[in-house]
Amino acid sequence: MLKILTSECLYGGRVVRYDGGEVPETHPTYLKWKEEGRLIPICPEVFGGLPTPRPDSQRQGDKVTACTGVDVTAEYTKGAVEAVRLAKENDVAFCIMKQDSPSCGSKFIYDGTFTDTKVPGQGLAVEMLRDAGFKVFAEEDIEEAAAYLETLL
Ligand code: SF4
Repeated sequence: MLKILTSECLYGGRVVRYDGGEVPETHPTYLKWKEEGRLIPICPEVFGGLPTPRPDSQRQGDKVTACTGVDVTAEYTKGAVEAVRLAKENDVAFCIMKQDSPSCGSKFIYDGTFTDTKVPGQGLAVEMLRDAGFKVFAEEDIEEAAAYLETLL
């Protein structure tokens, strides 16, 4: 069965978001994939060693900084490397990642000024996944992802 890597906060079942909140994906196709055992969940930030909850962090260039001023680039990088490792280990067909995150964002990220300003960009894990050759969809693009999966079956 072709597998799909996905952000763990979309997959649900374990609280991993920085704010302790939950954002489980409810699209019926995503739930069907989950039921089939097609989804491989990962939270790059937790895999990078960060606690939940944790301070809001944003990416600027290759650096990720918490709102407290602490440089968390090393943890974010470690989590991104883990995401690529898992994607390769499971030979995933593609990834579905949570939009806007400094790790998982695939279209936009916050600009690093902590002023609620989004800019076109991608999170560190998504950048490394794409560099490794994996296609990445945002959770709002499940139907596009499903159409792509059909072309692979
Ligand atoms: S790093 Fe990704 S999986 Fe983890 S909480 Fe943030 S968006 Fe979700």
